[in-house]
Amino acid sequence: MELLFATANLHKRQEAATILGSSFSIIVPSSLGFSGEIPETGLTLEENALQKARFIWDKFRIPCFADDTGLEVEALNGAPGVYSARYAGPSCSYTDNVNKLLEEMKDITLRKARFRCIIALILDGRPVLYEGIVPGSIITAPRGNNGFGYDPVFVPLGYEKTFAQMTEEEKNTLSHRKRALGKMALALQ
Ligand code: IMP
Repeated sequence: MELLFATANLHKRQEAATILGSSFSIIVPSSLGFSGEIPETGLTLEENALQKARFIWDKFRIPCFADDTGLEVEALNGAPGVYSARYAGPSCSYTDNVNKLLEEMKDITLRKARFRCIIALILDGRPVLYEGIVPGSIITAPRGNNGFGYDPVFVPLGYEKTFAQMTEEEKNTLSHRKRALGKMALALQ
């Protein structure tokens, strides 16, 4: 089965292909000649995933899915959440975001946080949502060089290493995206 993934990120495409297995062929809009921006203006992860999936469905009318992820910190009432990518400003780097988060949390002892990934799948026009969550906590100084985003300050519950201290394989066995994609794969099979 061919599935169109509404992303320009080839790393995400590869990750999805690995998790979904050989029964699925994962293509991206650029391989269908699309080079524009996929809109992402929702106020929640769910709205963004639905918006991206609907946009791609309206364009191509083939089975497709989109994802949206946020880091939700309990003591910050769920921030940065849907604004995780641009927490420190419109064109900030991953390091800017991590520094802003550590600054916001400098006096906070309750360090509980979670990554939440929402996938919207459209097979026939009606979207279905899948959620993947990894609970954990935010440490006070970055550790590790792997991964991206908030990985250097996020320690998943039950582990001592941050996501950035894990190998890609290790992180991918427990990641929020893996959990959401796994649910989607189960439903599709
Ligand atoms: P996206 O919706 O997958 O593009 O994720 C939005 C933002 O959340 C990214 O720009 C990162 O800052 C953060 N993020 C998403 N997934 C991860 C992850 O696996 N590790 C660390 N940060 C992540």
